[in-house]
Amino acid sequence: MKVSVGRPGSRAVLTLCTALAMSLTSVIMPAVQAAAEAAPSAGAPAAGLPSGRTDYRSLADYENDLSELARRNPSLVKPITLPERTREGRLVRGVEITDKAARRDGKPVLLVVGMHHGNEWPSGEVTMEFALDLVRKYGRDRQITGLLKKTRIVLVPIVNVDGFVKNTRRNANNVDMNRNYGFGWGESPPYEGAAPWSEPETRNVRDLISSRQVTTFLTMHTCLGNMLYPPLQHKAGLPPDIAAFRSFADAMGTQNGYFHTTSADDYETSGEVIDWSYYATRGLGVTVEVCTTPLTLPRTFQSLVVDQYLGTNGYEGKGIRGSFVTALQQAADREAHSVISGKAPRGAVLRISKDFPLWTNPVAQPDGTTRPVAFANHLSSSMEVSERSGHFTWD
Ligand SMILES: [Zn+2]
Repeated sequence: MKVSVGRPGSRAVLTLCTALAMSLTSVIMPAVQAAAEAAPSAGAPAAGLPSGRTDYRSLADYENDLSELARRNPSLVKPITLPERTREGRLVRGVEITDKAARRDGKPVLLVVGMHHGNEWPSGEVTMEFALDLVRKYGRDRQITGLLKKTRIVLVPIVNVDGFVKNTRRNANNVDMNRNYGFGWGESPPYEGAAPWSEPETRNVRDLISSRQVTTFLTMHTCLGNMLYPPLQHKAGLPPDIAAFRSFADAMGTQNGYFHTTSADDYETSGEVIDWSYYATRGLGVTVEVCTTPLTLPRTFQSLVVDQYLGTNGYEGKGIRGSFVTALQQAADREAHSVISGKAPRGAVLRISKDFPLWTNPVAQPDGTTRPVAFANHLSSSMEVSERSGHFTWD
Protein backbone atom coordinates (compact mmCIF):
# COMPACT_ATOMS: atom_id res chain seq x y z
CA MET A 1 0.00 0.00 0.00
CA LYS A 2 1.32 3.43 -0.91
CA VAL A 3 0.06 6.75 0.40
CA SER A 4 1.25 9.93 -1.21
CA VAL A 5 0.47 13.58 -0.78
CA GLY A 6 0.94 16.54 -3.06
CA ARG A 7 -0.12 20.16 -3.27
CA PRO A 8 -2.77 20.72 -5.91
CA GLY A 9 -1.00 20.96 -9.22
CA SER A 10 2.33 19.83 -7.82
CA ARG A 11 3.98 16.62 -8.83
CA ALA A 12 5.53 15.99 -5.46
CA VAL A 13 4.98 12.51 -4.17
CA LEU A 14 6.29 12.08 -0.66
CA THR A 15 6.23 9.10 1.57
CA LEU A 16 3.68 8.81 4.29
CA CYS A 17 6.10 9.27 7.17
CA THR A 18 7.96 12.32 5.91
CA ALA A 19 5.01 14.14 4.46
CA LEU A 20 2.55 14.03 7.28
CA ALA A 21 2.17 13.40 10.90
CA MET A 22 -0.51 10.99 9.84
CA SER A 23 -1.81 8.55 12.32
CA LEU A 24 -3.46 5.29 11.59
CA THR A 25 -6.15 5.53 14.19
CA SER A 26 -7.65 2.19 13.46
CA VAL A 27 -7.09 -0.61 11.05
CA ILE A 28 -9.92 -2.94 11.64
CA MET A 29 -11.23 -5.28 9.02
CA PRO A 30 -14.93 -5.83 9.24
CA ALA A 31 -15.71 -6.74 12.78
CA VAL A 32 -18.94 -8.47 13.55
CA GLN A 33 -21.61 -5.90 13.02
CA ALA A 34 -24.13 -4.97 15.57
CA ALA A 35 -27.15 -6.57 13.98
CA ALA A 36 -30.53 -5.14 13.38
CA GLU A 37 -30.88 -1.55 14.41
CA ALA A 38 -34.03 0.45 14.69
CA ALA A 39 -36.28 0.36 11.65
CA PRO A 40 -34.82 3.04 9.42
CA SER A 41 -37.54 3.69 6.91
CA ALA A 42 -39.36 6.35 8.88
CA GLY A 43 -41.70 8.67 7.13
CA ALA A 44 -42.75 6.27 4.38
CA PRO A 45 -45.83 7.39 2.56
CA ALA A 46 -48.78 5.03 2.62
CA ALA A 47 -48.40 4.23 -1.05
CA GLY A 48 -46.47 5.26 -4.09
CA LEU A 49 -42.87 5.29 -5.17
CA PRO A 50 -40.77 8.43 -4.67
CA SER A 51 -41.13 9.05 -8.42
CA GLY A 52 -44.83 8.25 -8.42
CA ARG A 53 -44.24 5.91 -11.35
CA THR A 54 -46.61 3.06 -12.14
CA ASP A 55 -44.67 1.47 -15.01
CA TYR A 56 -41.10 0.64 -15.96
CA ARG A 57 -38.70 3.28 -17.17
CA SER A 58 -37.27 3.37 -20.66
CA LEU A 59 -33.57 4.21 -21.09
CA ALA A 60 -34.58 7.78 -21.89
CA ASP A 61 -36.56 7.90 -18.63
CA TYR A 62 -33.53 6.76 -16.64
CA GLU A 63 -31.25 9.27 -18.32
CA ASN A 64 -33.72 12.06 -17.77
CA ASP A 65 -34.25 11.16 -14.11
CA LEU A 66 -30.49 11.00 -13.45
CA SER A 67 -29.84 14.30 -15.23
CA GLU A 68 -32.70 16.12 -13.54
CA LEU A 69 -31.73 14.85 -10.11
CA ALA A 70 -28.24 16.28 -10.55
CA ARG A 71 -29.39 19.50 -12.19
CA ARG A 72 -31.91 20.31 -9.47
CA ASN A 73 -29.72 19.30 -6.53
CA PRO A 74 -26.19 20.34 -7.43
CA SER A 75 -24.89 20.43 -3.86
CA LEU A 76 -26.21 16.94 -3.12
CA VAL A 77 -25.96 15.04 -6.41
CA LYS A 78 -23.00 14.65 -8.75
CA PRO A 79 -23.61 12.99 -12.12
CA ILE A 80 -21.09 10.38 -13.22
CA THR A 81 -20.42 8.57 -16.47
CA LEU A 82 -18.41 5.37 -16.33
CA PRO A 83 -15.16 5.37 -18.31
CA GLU A 84 -16.07 2.98 -21.13
CA ARG A 85 -18.97 2.92 -23.54
CA THR A 86 -20.88 -0.33 -23.87
CA ARG A 87 -20.27 -2.78 -26.72
CA GLU A 88 -22.80 -0.87 -28.80
CA GLY A 89 -21.44 2.53 -27.82
CA ARG A 90 -23.89 3.57 -25.14
CA LEU A 91 -22.94 5.60 -22.08
CA VAL A 92 -23.30 4.10 -18.62
CA ARG A 93 -24.53 6.71 -16.20
CA GLY A 94 -25.05 7.10 -12.49
CA VAL A 95 -25.05 9.57 -9.63
CA GLU A 96 -23.11 10.14 -6.45
CA ILE A 97 -25.19 11.46 -3.57
CA THR A 98 -23.80 13.03 -0.41
CA ASP A 99 -23.76 16.28 1.48
CA LYS A 100 -21.44 18.57 -0.56
CA ALA A 101 -21.22 16.06 -3.39
CA ALA A 102 -18.67 17.98 -5.47
CA ARG A 103 -15.98 17.71 -2.81
CA ARG A 104 -13.27 15.10 -2.98
CA ASP A 105 -13.94 14.01 0.56
CA GLY A 106 -12.80 10.95 2.45
CA LYS A 107 -16.24 9.53 3.22
CA PRO A 108 -16.88 5.80 3.03
CA VAL A 109 -18.81 4.75 -0.07
CA LEU A 110 -21.89 2.59 -0.53
CA LEU A 111 -22.16 1.45 -4.14
CA VAL A 112 -25.47 0.16 -5.49
CA VAL A 113 -25.70 -1.08 -9.08
CA GLY A 114 -28.61 -2.57 -11.00
CA MET A 115 -29.03 -4.65 -14.12
CA HIS A 116 -25.87 -6.60 -14.71
CA HIS A 117 -28.61 -8.67 -16.34
CA GLY A 118 -30.48 -6.46 -18.79
CA ASN A 119 -33.83 -8.20 -18.45
CA GLU A 120 -34.02 -7.84 -14.66
CA TRP A 121 -35.85 -4.54 -14.72
CA PRO A 122 -36.92 -4.22 -11.07
CA SER A 123 -33.21 -4.19 -10.09
CA GLY A 124 -32.74 -0.89 -11.91
CA GLU A 125 -36.04 0.57 -10.76
CA VAL A 126 -35.38 0.13 -7.03
CA THR A 127 -31.87 1.57 -7.46
CA MET A 128 -33.24 4.65 -9.20
CA GLU A 129 -36.07 5.07 -6.71
CA PHE A 130 -33.64 5.02 -3.80
CA ALA A 131 -31.67 7.85 -5.40
CA LEU A 132 -34.87 9.90 -5.61
CA ASP A 133 -35.83 8.90 -2.08
CA LEU A 134 -32.53 10.06 -0.59
CA VAL A 135 -32.70 13.44 -2.26
CA ARG A 136 -36.30 13.92 -1.21
CA LYS A 137 -35.54 13.05 2.40
CA TYR A 138 -32.31 14.99 2.78
CA GLY A 139 -32.96 17.87 5.17
CA ARG A 140 -36.37 16.44 6.13
CA ASP A 141 -35.54 13.04 7.59
CA ARG A 142 -32.96 13.14 10.39
CA GLN A 143 -31.64 9.65 9.80
CA ILE A 144 -31.12 10.08 6.05
CA THR A 145 -29.63 13.54 6.50
CA GLY A 146 -27.19 12.21 9.07
CA LEU A 147 -26.17 9.29 6.88
CA LEU A 148 -25.59 11.52 3.85
CA LYS A 149 -23.26 13.68 5.91
CA LYS A 150 -21.19 10.61 6.80
CA THR A 151 -21.31 8.53 3.63
CA ARG A 152 -21.27 8.88 -0.13
CA ILE A 153 -23.63 6.65 -2.08
CA VAL A 154 -22.93 5.86 -5.71
CA LEU A 155 -25.86 4.50 -7.73
CA VAL A 156 -25.70 3.08 -11.25
CA PRO A 157 -29.15 1.75 -12.17
CA ILE A 158 -28.11 0.01 -15.42
CA VAL A 159 -24.70 -1.63 -15.81
CA ASN A 160 -25.64 -3.57 -18.93
CA VAL A 161 -27.34 -0.85 -20.95
CA ASP A 162 -27.29 -2.76 -24.26
CA GLY A 163 -28.95 -5.76 -22.61
CA PHE A 164 -31.58 -3.52 -21.05
CA VAL A 165 -32.44 -1.91 -24.37
CA LYS A 166 -32.94 -5.36 -25.92
CA ASN A 167 -34.46 -6.84 -22.75
CA THR A 168 -31.87 -9.62 -22.72
CA ARG A 169 -29.84 -11.04 -19.84
CA ARG A 170 -26.45 -10.80 -21.56
CA ASN A 171 -24.67 -7.91 -23.23
CA ALA A 172 -24.41 -7.21 -26.97
CA ASN A 173 -21.46 -9.63 -27.18
CA ASN A 174 -23.63 -12.40 -25.69
CA VAL A 175 -21.55 -12.42 -22.49
CA ASP A 176 -23.09 -12.76 -19.05
CA MET A 177 -21.89 -9.67 -17.16
CA ASN A 178 -21.93 -11.52 -13.88
CA ARG A 179 -19.56 -14.27 -15.05
CA ASN A 180 -16.88 -12.08 -16.66
CA TYR A 181 -15.07 -10.65 -13.58
CA GLY A 182 -11.50 -11.83 -13.22
CA PHE A 183 -11.34 -13.39 -9.79
CA GLY A 184 -11.96 -17.13 -10.14
CA TRP A 185 -13.05 -16.61 -13.76
CA GLY A 186 -13.29 -19.57 -16.10
CA GLU A 187 -15.74 -22.17 -14.80
CA SER A 188 -19.04 -20.80 -16.10
CA PRO A 189 -19.12 -21.59 -19.82
CA PRO A 190 -20.44 -20.75 -22.31
CA TYR A 191 -21.29 -17.11 -21.55
CA GLU A 192 -18.37 -16.00 -19.36
CA GLY A 193 -16.57 -14.19 -22.23
CA ALA A 194 -13.36 -14.96 -24.12
CA ALA A 195 -11.18 -13.77 -21.24
CA PRO A 196 -11.56 -12.24 -17.78
CA TRP A 197 -12.60 -8.59 -18.10
CA SER A 198 -13.23 -9.01 -21.83
CA GLU A 199 -16.28 -6.73 -21.67
CA PRO A 200 -16.37 -2.92 -21.26
CA GLU A 201 -19.34 -3.20 -18.90
CA THR A 202 -17.44 -5.28 -16.34
CA ARG A 203 -14.34 -3.13 -16.67
CA ASN A 204 -16.54 -0.12 -15.89
CA VAL A 205 -17.62 -1.58 -12.57
CA ARG A 206 -14.05 -2.63 -11.81
CA ASP A 207 -12.91 0.96 -12.39
CA LEU A 208 -15.73 2.33 -10.26
CA ILE A 209 -14.79 0.15 -7.28
CA SER A 210 -11.05 0.53 -7.80
CA SER A 211 -11.20 4.33 -7.66
CA ARG A 212 -13.28 4.76 -4.50
CA GLN A 213 -13.27 3.49 -0.95
CA VAL A 214 -16.30 1.25 -1.38
CA THR A 215 -16.83 -0.21 2.08
CA THR A 216 -20.21 -1.70 1.14
CA PHE A 217 -21.50 -2.85 -2.22
CA LEU A 218 -24.90 -4.10 -3.34
CA THR A 219 -25.49 -5.53 -6.80
CA MET A 220 -29.18 -5.84 -7.57
CA HIS A 221 -30.80 -8.72 -9.45
CA THR A 222 -34.18 -10.46 -9.73
CA CYS A 223 -36.09 -12.53 -8.69
CA LEU A 224 -35.14 -14.96 -5.93
CA GLY A 225 -35.95 -12.91 -2.84
CA ASN A 226 -32.59 -13.61 -1.25
CA MET A 227 -29.15 -12.14 -0.56
CA LEU A 228 -25.92 -13.88 -1.56
CA TYR A 229 -22.28 -13.39 -0.61
CA PRO A 230 -19.02 -15.23 -1.35
CA PRO A 231 -17.93 -17.88 -1.98
CA LEU A 232 -19.26 -18.63 -5.45
CA GLN A 233 -17.90 -22.17 -5.29
CA HIS A 234 -17.67 -24.52 -2.32
CA LYS A 235 -14.06 -25.37 -3.10
CA ALA A 236 -13.11 -21.75 -2.30
CA GLY A 237 -14.09 -22.14 1.34
CA LEU A 238 -15.80 -19.50 3.43
CA PRO A 239 -14.48 -15.92 3.27
CA PRO A 240 -12.54 -14.62 6.30
CA ASP A 241 -15.32 -12.11 6.97
CA ILE A 242 -18.17 -14.61 6.85
CA ALA A 243 -19.47 -13.49 10.25
CA ALA A 244 -19.62 -9.88 9.08
CA PHE A 245 -21.40 -10.92 5.87
CA ARG A 246 -23.99 -12.88 7.83
CA SER A 247 -24.53 -10.16 10.37
CA PHE A 248 -24.94 -7.52 7.66
CA ALA A 249 -27.33 -9.73 5.68
CA ASP A 250 -29.30 -10.46 8.85
CA ALA A 251 -29.71 -6.74 9.43
CA MET A 252 -30.85 -6.15 5.84
CA GLY A 253 -33.14 -9.17 6.07
CA THR A 254 -35.07 -7.67 8.96
CA GLN A 255 -35.93 -4.85 6.55
CA ASN A 256 -36.53 -6.59 3.23
CA GLY A 257 -37.69 -9.99 4.48
CA TYR A 258 -35.20 -11.88 2.29
CA PHE A 259 -33.15 -14.82 3.49
CA HIS A 260 -29.41 -15.03 2.89
CA THR A 261 -26.83 -17.66 2.12
CA THR A 262 -23.52 -18.09 0.36
CA SER A 263 -23.72 -17.79 -3.39
CA ALA A 264 -22.32 -21.33 -3.64
CA ASP A 265 -25.20 -22.66 -1.56
CA ASP A 266 -27.62 -21.06 -4.00
CA TYR A 267 -25.87 -22.47 -7.06
CA GLU A 268 -22.22 -22.50 -8.05
CA THR A 269 -20.86 -20.00 -10.57
CA SER A 270 -17.61 -18.13 -11.23
CA GLY A 271 -16.60 -14.63 -12.23
CA GLU A 272 -19.27 -12.69 -10.33
CA VAL A 273 -18.71 -9.11 -9.26
CA ILE A 274 -19.14 -9.72 -5.52
CA ASP A 275 -16.30 -12.23 -5.46
CA TRP A 276 -13.76 -9.98 -7.19
CA SER A 277 -14.85 -6.85 -5.29
CA TYR A 278 -14.65 -8.54 -1.90
CA TYR A 279 -11.30 -10.23 -2.42
CA ALA A 280 -9.79 -7.13 -4.06
CA THR A 281 -11.02 -4.58 -1.51
CA ARG A 282 -12.39 -6.55 1.46
CA GLY A 283 -15.44 -4.30 1.39
CA LEU A 284 -18.57 -6.39 1.86
CA GLY A 285 -20.25 -7.15 -1.47
CA VAL A 286 -23.71 -8.69 -1.55
CA THR A 287 -25.98 -9.78 -4.40
CA VAL A 288 -29.57 -8.82 -3.65
CA GLU A 289 -32.20 -10.73 -5.58
CA VAL A 290 -35.19 -8.40 -5.53
CA CYS A 291 -38.71 -9.87 -5.34
CA THR A 292 -39.89 -13.33 -4.48
CA THR A 293 -42.60 -13.60 -7.11
CA PRO A 294 -44.72 -16.24 -5.46
CA LEU A 295 -46.83 -17.83 -8.12
CA THR A 296 -49.94 -16.63 -6.36
CA LEU A 297 -49.01 -13.02 -7.02
CA PRO A 298 -49.20 -11.32 -10.40
CA ARG A 299 -45.84 -10.33 -11.86
CA THR A 300 -46.63 -6.69 -12.32
CA PHE A 301 -44.83 -3.41 -11.77
CA GLN A 302 -46.96 -3.00 -8.65
CA SER A 303 -45.93 -6.35 -7.15
CA LEU A 304 -42.32 -6.53 -8.38
CA VAL A 305 -41.29 -2.92 -7.89
CA VAL A 306 -43.74 -0.84 -5.86
CA ASP A 307 -44.61 -3.41 -3.20
CA GLN A 308 -41.04 -4.69 -3.00
CA TYR A 309 -39.60 -1.24 -2.62
CA LEU A 310 -42.10 0.09 -0.11
CA GLY A 311 -43.10 -3.08 1.69
CA THR A 312 -46.80 -3.07 0.86
CA ASN A 313 -49.56 -5.45 -0.28
CA GLY A 314 -48.36 -8.60 1.42
CA TYR A 315 -44.85 -7.35 2.21
CA GLU A 316 -45.86 -5.06 5.08
CA GLY A 317 -42.80 -3.76 6.86
CA LYS A 318 -40.51 -5.59 4.45
CA GLY A 319 -39.25 -3.13 1.89
CA ILE A 320 -36.06 -2.90 -0.12
CA ARG A 321 -35.91 0.74 0.88
CA GLY A 322 -35.29 -0.17 4.51
CA SER A 323 -32.48 -2.55 3.59
CA PHE A 324 -30.82 0.16 1.48
CA VAL A 325 -30.78 2.35 4.58
CA THR A 326 -29.25 -0.54 6.53
CA ALA A 327 -26.53 -0.72 3.86
CA LEU A 328 -25.86 3.00 4.30
CA GLN A 329 -25.48 2.40 8.04
CA GLN A 330 -23.11 -0.46 7.32
CA ALA A 331 -21.06 1.75 4.97
CA ALA A 332 -20.84 4.44 7.64
CA ASP A 333 -19.89 2.11 10.49
CA ARG A 334 -16.32 2.82 11.52
CA GLU A 335 -16.16 -0.39 13.52
CA ALA A 336 -16.36 -2.18 10.19
CA HIS A 337 -13.64 -0.48 8.18
CA SER A 338 -10.33 1.32 8.53
CA VAL A 339 -9.94 5.06 9.04
CA ILE A 340 -6.83 7.11 8.37
CA SER A 341 -6.68 10.44 10.16
CA GLY A 342 -4.07 13.15 10.27
CA LYS A 343 -3.18 16.70 9.40
CA ALA A 344 -2.05 18.19 6.09
CA PRO A 345 -2.08 21.60 4.44
CA ARG A 346 -5.55 22.68 3.41
CA GLY A 347 -6.00 21.91 -0.25
CA ALA A 348 -3.48 19.07 -0.23
CA VAL A 349 -4.51 16.07 -2.27
CA LEU A 350 -3.91 12.72 -0.60
CA ARG A 351 -3.65 9.59 -2.69
CA ILE A 352 -3.69 5.99 -1.69
CA SER A 353 -3.01 3.08 -3.98
CA LYS A 354 -2.45 -0.64 -3.90
CA ASP A 355 -1.23 -2.97 -6.64
CA PHE A 356 -1.48 -6.73 -6.40
CA PRO A 357 -2.29 -9.79 -8.49
CA LEU A 358 -5.34 -12.03 -8.23
CA TRP A 359 -6.03 -15.23 -10.15
CA THR A 360 -8.62 -16.88 -12.32
CA ASN A 361 -9.73 -20.47 -11.84
CA PRO A 362 -7.44 -22.99 -13.57
CA VAL A 363 -8.07 -22.51 -17.31
CA ALA A 364 -6.66 -24.23 -20.41
CA GLN A 365 -3.54 -22.57 -21.81
CA PRO A 366 -2.18 -22.50 -25.38
CA ASP A 367 0.73 -24.68 -24.21
CA GLY A 368 -1.68 -27.45 -23.23
CA THR A 369 -1.47 -26.91 -19.48
CA THR A 370 -4.37 -25.92 -17.27
CA ARG A 371 -3.55 -23.36 -14.60
CA PRO A 372 -4.80 -20.17 -12.96
CA VAL A 373 -3.92 -16.95 -14.78
CA ALA A 374 -2.82 -13.92 -12.80
CA PHE A 375 -4.26 -10.49 -13.54
CA ALA A 376 -3.21 -7.13 -12.16
CA ASN A 377 -5.33 -5.08 -9.77
CA HIS A 378 -4.76 -1.37 -9.26
CA LEU A 379 -6.78 0.32 -6.52
CA SER A 380 -6.26 4.07 -6.35
CA SER A 381 -8.29 6.83 -4.79
CA SER A 382 -7.74 10.35 -3.56
CA MET A 383 -9.18 13.01 -1.30
CA GLU A 384 -8.59 16.71 -0.78
CA VAL A 385 -8.03 18.22 2.66
CA SER A 386 -10.78 20.80 3.07
CA GLU A 387 -10.73 21.78 6.74
CA ARG A 388 -8.99 25.03 7.58
CA SER A 389 -7.33 23.28 10.52
CA GLY A 390 -5.85 20.71 8.15
CA HIS A 391 -7.33 17.82 10.07
CA PHE A 392 -8.74 15.08 7.90
CA THR A 393 -10.21 11.66 8.21
CA TRP A 394 -10.28 9.16 5.38
CA ASP A 395 -12.53 6.15 5.63
ZN1 LIG B 1 -29.39 -11.52 -12.40
